[in-house]
Amino acid sequence: MSSRKATNAIPDICLGGTTIAAGTRASVNLPIAELYTHIPATMPVEVIRGKRPGPTLFVSAAVHGDEINGVEIVRRLLAYPKLNNIKGTLIAVPIVNVQGFLEQSRYLPDRRDLNRCFPGSERGSVAGRLAWMFAQEIVAKADYGIDLHTGAIHRGNMPQIRADVADSRTAELAAAFGAPVTINSSLRDGSLREYAASKGIPMLVYEAGEALRFDETSISVGYKGVLNAMRHIGMLPKSRRKPKASVIANSSSWLRAEQSGIVRPFVGHGENVERGQLLATISDPFGNNEVELKAKFDGIVIGRLNLPLVNEGDAVFHVARFGSVDAVEQVVDQLQAEQEQDTARELNHPPVI
Ligand SMILES: [Zn+2]
Repeated sequence: MSSRKATNAIPDICLGGTTIAAGTRASVNLPIAELYTHIPATMPVEVIRGKRPGPTLFVSAAVHGDEINGVEIVRRLLAYPKLNNIKGTLIAVPIVNVQGFLEQSRYLPDRRDLNRCFPGSERGSVAGRLAWMFAQEIVAKADYGIDLHTGAIHRGNMPQIRADVADSRTAELAAAFGAPVTINSSLRDGSLREYAASKGIPMLVYEAGEALRFDETSISVGYKGVLNAMRHIGMLPKSRRKPKASVIANSSSWLRAEQSGIVRPFVGHGENVERGQLLATISDPFGNNEVELKAKFDGIVIGRLNLPLVNEGDAVFHVARFGSVDAVEQVVDQLQAEQEQDTARELNHPPVI
């Protein structure tokens, strides 16, 4: 904790029984269900309070315990030197689903998906109790939220924001984040995003990369995006740099394998595809019984199966529809160019390879 004096005008906040004054920084361990070995378990939370008033933002990762790019995004965020001078409060939760993280699993020990269990219940299942605690201790105290995710195991996502852009404050926050694409997505029952919306809290989901893997582009775009969002809501000074464009997709769909077999994919993330274009072939191990997987509409590949083995019906490519495919191409090209420059510049965070 910092020894700075609290600013009288700004009320203290209380998290898990710990009182945190303005101008101080605290690590809080919120108790969660103990492990079945009777070892106590906690969710570690870092709270950074500026001396000056401002909004409260929560940034969370690993709600799905195997989605770890966000854990590194939070680590970089907490090392950002200007955090000492923010307006308002940052609540950073690098690992929400602690039990899933220990098991390298998306789920909780009761096999439930935490992101379908909000708002949860104090006397509910393991997942329900965790959702309840997170909702009460973190979300209810925030004005804005950013939840960091990746694709599922063996499935990669191009860096993207999922948000309800019909809500103007959420749309502005999504635009400020500056991920190359934003997918306008409706609210899923029981999701953290739905719960935040029900409380009037604008919240973004950032999806990038693949479960159980680190990906530098996904981490770096996410880290910069969180800082951009903090500038937008006045926690950090505005940047003189022009905000990056994020192109909004109004719909997306998965292209599925028509037969089981071995996949040879021909397009990657961010690639522009045209209706009827050959995206992959699926055949048996001898190369016989080959079928072609073709794009059903013009769009951009925003997600892809990385494991080249499929059962009939498995989702292989996630393609989004955009008003202007050219605009997305430009944004993707710009992203790649900037990525190379930034990687050289960010010496305090050597890129993960
Ligand atoms: Zn997830």
